Amino acid sequence: MFDESKKLFEEAKKYIVGGVNSPVRAFKSVGIDPIFIKNAKGAYLYSEDDRQFIDYVSSFGPNILGHANNTIVNKVKAALENGFTYGACTKAEVDLAKRIVETFDSVELTRFVNSGTEAVMSAIRLARGFTQRENCLKFKGCYHGHYDGMLVGAGSGAATFGVPTSKGVIEDIAKHTLICEYNDFDAVKKIFQDYGHTIACVIVEPIAANMGVVLPKPGFLQFLRDITYQYNSLLIFDEVITGFRACYGGIQTLENIKPDLTILGKIIGGGFPLAMYGGNRDIMSLVSPEGPVYQAGTLSGNPIAVQAGIATLDMLKNTNPYNQLKLNTQILVSRTMGLANTYDIPLSENSFGSCFTFFFTENKPTNYPEVLKSNERLFKNFFLGMIKRGIYFAPSQFEANFLSTAHTKKDIEITINAAEEIFKELKD
Ligand code: PLP
Repeated sequence: MFDESKKLFEEAKKYIVGGVNSPVRAFKSVGIDPIFIKNAKGAYLYSEDDRQFIDYVSSFGPNILGHANNTIVNKVKAALENGFTYGACTKAEVDLAKRIVETFDSVELTRFVNSGTEAVMSAIRLARGFTQRENCLKFKGCYHGHYDGMLVGAGSGAATFGVPTSKGVIEDIAKHTLICEYNDFDAVKKIFQDYGHTIACVIVEPIAANMGVVLPKPGFLQFLRDITYQYNSLLIFDEVITGFRACYGGIQTLENIKPDLTILGKIIGGGFPLAMYGGNRDIMSLVSPEGPVYQAGTLSGNPIAVQAGIATLDMLKNTNPYNQLKLNTQILVSRTMGLANTYDIPLSENSFGSCFTFFFTENKPTNYPEVLKSNERLFKNFFLGMIKRGIYFAPSQFEANFLSTAHTKKDIEITINAAEEIFKELKD
C-alpha cells in the first residue's frame, strides 16, 4: 500500500539516523514503516505513494489554519523576496512581539528563539539566574523539548520509547530536576516542604499534551501558582502546544492565572521555526544584553518565520475560529465515544479546544501511570485501521491530535465512519 514510502525509508536510513529527523516520525510504536509526505494542503496530506490523508497530526500542532494556508503562503512569498535573514533587527519582530505582549497579561518582554526546546532551556537558565537557585520541578509525562535537564520523566517521543532518562544526560544535571506526578497536589506539597528553598522554578504544561492530552484537575494550576509564590520560586507555563490553541491567548488566559514565565512555539511560527519565552520586566531584564543571563541565536526572530507568525495570529484574531474548532472537535470526540460504547470498546478521551487524545481505557487518565494503562494493541489497531482508510492520526498513544480550521464537517464524518468500521472489526 505504501511501496514508495517503504523504498524511501530504506534510502533514508542510509543517510539519516533511524531514517528520521525526529523519533516519533519513525512510527515505531505502531509497527509500520513511516509514510513519506510529498505535499499538503488544507486538512490533507499527500504521500509519495499518491495517497491522500485527512491529517490530525498537524505537524504536532503548528498548523491550526491547515496546511499551506493561502494568506500565509502569500506573506511568506513576499518576505522571501526581501531576504531570508539579516542577523539584525526588523520591524516585523517588533510587530509580532507586540501582539504577544498585548495578548498575555503575564508577558511584558519577549525573546524569540527557533524551537520550543531552546525557549525552555533559556527560560530555565533565566529562572536559575533570577532566583539564584539550582533545582527545577517538572511533572512526569510532560515534555518540554530535549534540553538535558528536561529529559527526565519526559513524555512524547521519550515516553513512546520508555526511556524517561536519555543516555548522555549526566547525573549531575538530572539530579537538579525534581519530578512529581501531574495533578498530585500532595507530592508537590511534600517536595516543596523538603526542597522549597532550592527550587528555582516549576515548569508545567498547563494542559498536558505530550502523554496524550491530560487535563489539570480543578485548582491544580492555581495551587502551583500559590505554592511557587509561597516559596519564591518561579512558575513557568510551557504553552508551546496550548498557546493560541483554545483561545486567542493561552490556558493562562482562560484560567486567569499569571505564570512568571511563558513559553510559546508551534502556532506562533505559523509552521516555521519560531518560539518565544517571555515574562515580566523584572525577570526578563536579566537576559543579555540587558542583564547577565546569556542567550543568543543566529536565526532568532527570523524574518520569514516572523511573517508567518504574524499572518497566523492576525487570522486567528480576525476570524476567531475557536468556538467552531471546539464544536467540531467535540462532535468528532463525542460521536466516536458513543460508537466505542456501542461496540463495547474500552475508550476514554481527553480534549480541549481543537486538541484531543483517545485512550483505550475505561477511565480518563489524569496522570502518566494512568495513561500507561491504555491498551497498546487496541491503540495500534485503531491507528492502522485509520491509516488504511486515509486518516492520519498521531502515530503514538502519547501524542495529541489536532483539528484545524481547514477540516470540514465531511472530513469529520468520514473519520467517524472509519472509527465505526474499525470498532466493528475490533469487536469481531
Ligand atoms: N514544550 C512542549 C509542551 C512541546 O510540546 C514541545 C514539542 O512538542 C516542546 C516544548 C519542544 O518544542 P520543539 O520541538 O520546537 O523543540
